[in-house]
Amino acid sequence: MKPEVIVIGAGFAGAVAAERFANAASKRVLVLEKRAHLGGNMYDYIDENGVRRHEYGPHIFHTNSKEVVDYLSQFTDWYPYQHRVLGHINGIVAPIPFNLTTIERSFPKEKADRLKTLLIKEYGMEKKVPILQLRANANPEINELAEYIYEHVFKYYTMKQWGQTPEEIDPAVTGRVPVHISYDDRYFQDTYQMMPAHGFTGIFENMLKNEKIEVRLNTEAKSCLQIDLDKKQILFEGEVFEGPVIFTGAIDDLLDYPLGELPYRSLEFDLQSHSQTYQEAATVNYPTPAEQNAFTRITEYKLLMPADQQPEATTIAVEYPLTYHHDAEKGNIPYYPIAQDECRKQYQAYCDLIRGIDNLHLLGRLAEYQYYNMDAIVAKALQMFNSGKLR
Ligand code: FAD
Ligand code: UDP
Repeated sequence: MKPEVIVIGAGFAGAVAAERFANAASKRVLVLEKRAHLGGNMYDYIDENGVRRHEYGPHIFHTNSKEVVDYLSQFTDWYPYQHRVLGHINGIVAPIPFNLTTIERSFPKEKADRLKTLLIKEYGMEKKVPILQLRANANPEINELAEYIYEHVFKYYTMKQWGQTPEEIDPAVTGRVPVHISYDDRYFQDTYQMMPAHGFTGIFENMLKNEKIEVRLNTEAKSCLQIDLDKKQILFEGEVFEGPVIFTGAIDDLLDYPLGELPYRSLEFDLQSHSQTYQEAATVNYPTPAEQNAFTRITEYKLLMPADQQPEATTIAVEYPLTYHHDAEKGNIPYYPIAQDECRKQYQAYCDLIRGIDNLHLLGRLAEYQYYNMDAIVAKALQMFNSGKLR
């Protein structure tokens, strides 16, 4: 097949682009994917315990976008799922995000009642307050509580995850898990929360099942496609390719690091089998100092599955954050772009290098160097396609 569009990467960014070009624009699309499977970091499969394991870390679907739900529902049925997280907080196990129940579990009744009343009066019920904002509160009692939460929920987890303190990173990162003045102990409060009936991989199989789409797995794009920065053109199998090329991987890697390696955080998963249910919640966080637990969280995958499909044996993933290096033995998968000015500047310098190659489009968490959730990247890919920007 002679492609009219080339998509590099079969994660959500690439799959939405390929599906739209094939179905809505009737174009012949070639998808190049270097891994042996579809789905990018969303890839999951049933493992030897009968558990749906998420190969690249736990993924939970949640969104406020009806457009995203309607779009994805063409490719999957869903089962209801609300994610709840417990955390080891100063010697007790209590809900995260830190909420009114967490206060009740953390302090004697009289003190807990007083703190709850103060918070409700100051912010109002059901309000969400990022920890750095709560710490700036001048009321001494609220301030003392904020310091407690900072110390026991955010400080060490963030240092393990990012190698930096919460003040040193973009406030939006810790703002993803705000203190919640509520008894709602769900990790997310989005309107739509559910999981795909046949896993995330099932969604990708259905999206890309189309005679106009050819998927080549185990294919590093650079083996057949070159970016000529001088002539500002893309070569595919030795010939100039003028159709749209949607790239969803890391731009420094595509160009072979002429401006050095972009910084990312990586992860290592210690996967363990246990004969019995391991923990009380699907995810348990360990915001404890690295000397106590070097990992950040443990997810028990069967607890993400439908209630009527609970296998007896269980698989857990213990998450160890790592510094990323593309040629390291461990930590060579770029999971998280780093939301800091100097990292964004280096990324921008990479974008400057490809400026003028008008048919090359960067789309996705790595390609855009943005801490996107899956719904955000689906929405972005739809919006880019619908607005005619992917030419
Ligand atoms: P990716 O999924 O990374 O896909 C990019 C693809 O491109 C990969 O398959 C890669 O192999 C391929 N590729 C790259 N370079 C090349 C090349 N040169 N040649 C060929 N192929 C190439 N989001 C949520 O909404 N909910 C969650 O609970 C959630 N949990 C997460 C947990 C973790 C640990 C992480 C890291 C992320 C989580 N996310 C979650 C975010 C979600 O994973 C991303 O938003 C989503 O995977 C981004 O899709 P993408 O297509 O941009 O990138
Ligand atoms: N965070 C924290 N303690 C927690 C949970 C989260 O300090 O118990 C901070 C940490 O900096 C983390 C960020 O909040 O990186 C975002 O958390 P989220 O669970 O959204 O991370 P992700 O699932 O994207 O890895």
